[in-house]
Amino acid sequence: MPSEIEPTATTEQAAAGANAAPEQAEAEAAAPGRASTPEQAVAPEQPSTTERICELAARIESDIIAWRRHFHRHPELGAHEVETSAFIRQKLDEWSIDYRIVEGTRPAELADERPDFIGTGIIATIRGEAPGAYDAAGKPAKRIALRTDMDALPIAERTGFDYASETGGVMHACGHDCHMAMMLGTVRMLNDLRERLHGEVRIIFQPAEEISIGARDMIAAGALEGVDAIYAAHIWSEVDAGTISCEAGPRMAFTDWFRIDIEGVSAHGSMPHKGIDAIVIAAEIVDALQVIVSRRISPFEPMVITVGEIHGGTARNIMAGSAYLTGTLRTWHPNVRERAIDRIERVAGKTSHAFGAQIKFSFEKGNPAVVNDEACAAVARQAVQKTLGEQAVGAYEGTLAGEDFAEYLQHVPGVLVFVGTNNPEIGAIHPQHSCYYTIDETMLAKGALVATQWACDMLA
Ligand SMILES: [Zn+2]
Ligand SMILES: [Zn+2]
Repeated sequence: MPSEIEPTATTEQAAAGANAAPEQAEAEAAAPGRASTPEQAVAPEQPSTTERICELAARIESDIIAWRRHFHRHPELGAHEVETSAFIRQKLDEWSIDYRIVEGTRPAELADERPDFIGTGIIATIRGEAPGAYDAAGKPAKRIALRTDMDALPIAERTGFDYASETGGVMHACGHDCHMAMMLGTVRMLNDLRERLHGEVRIIFQPAEEISIGARDMIAAGALEGVDAIYAAHIWSEVDAGTISCEAGPRMAFTDWFRIDIEGVSAHGSMPHKGIDAIVIAAEIVDALQVIVSRRISPFEPMVITVGEIHGGTARNIMAGSAYLTGTLRTWHPNVRERAIDRIERVAGKTSHAFGAQIKFSFEKGNPAVVNDEACAAVARQAVQKTLGEQAVGAYEGTLAGEDFAEYLQHVPGVLVFVGTNNPEIGAIHPQHSCYYTIDETMLAKGALVATQWACDMLA
């Protein structure tokens, strides 16, 4: 039998962060149709679902923080989350939760070393036990999915914390350690709330987000089969701690990549008129690309073109005969994206042509934009209001960073919430992917309970 969450002295003491606004919880308890529907079979004297969630979150808050610190201390790169995956499976085993391992994403070098090892992704299932949760054929009344990523980044940590990374050059600097810890907390709570779930919750532990292959692997492995809606959270340094942002619409960007190869003609560095200088042309292109942003696209459309690399030349006295530059295009809307791709190619081509050089343009489309579904976002906002109170509803304009959670949203409606963690008082001010990245850990239990409330409300 799955073990229930028991109150303990230490966890009770650590229960500070996860209290419900009492009047909201009461309002839910008194809401018509909640306790009186025969199907729900929750006796009137029982605590409301929100009260129950807040009580459970308070009890496991110290566990959630401990899990996060464990993941933080032992980060693993994308498609290499071997020990991370084992730790999660150990917890699922402890709580008697069904799961399967996804074979798709696995480190290639382990194929020889450990042929028995099949992958790091995990799909777990929590079956609701409310009357009518399943029909006679075993189909759930509704099935929702919750997703966390698992991978770390090739960054050498410089925070100096006692739980800092013990793996040289690898760090959880995007908060995926937090996502896993919050998800384990959510799993723990939902498992205790099974009798209130009118359907099924699928938990997706997804590897390799930072290298943009994990979501596609999980989808190919059937992670979304029969799923009605999906939820994910991202711990976010630009959102104030104490708040969670759940707005509908575009939230994160189309993440595309380009490369421009310039073919000029080399010459002696003292005789520029005898060749075609690929470096000068590269510099002109870099400037001209920024004019696309400032003069060809509406200032009300979010868009970034960044050239991240320029390579060219072989020696200081030789005018470069060839050069290449690479960069990224970030947009929110598909029509802006298509126009920008066309403009980048034309600007690069025409600029090179004016100087008598040739170019080769290559463009790689990456993850689509994350666009939150209206209804799923509304349920998330309501989950924040119920569990943390109105003042915890965050406001955030969105970002041009990318997320492969967008891949799931190509198939099912869903929501990605930003769990705010910016707190100057404790030095939690550094951006994602910084070697000093720090979070406000009091947000972890809050993130877990909002996800739990969202799942309960979606399956009410
Ligand atoms: Zn990241
Ligand atoms: Zn991330």
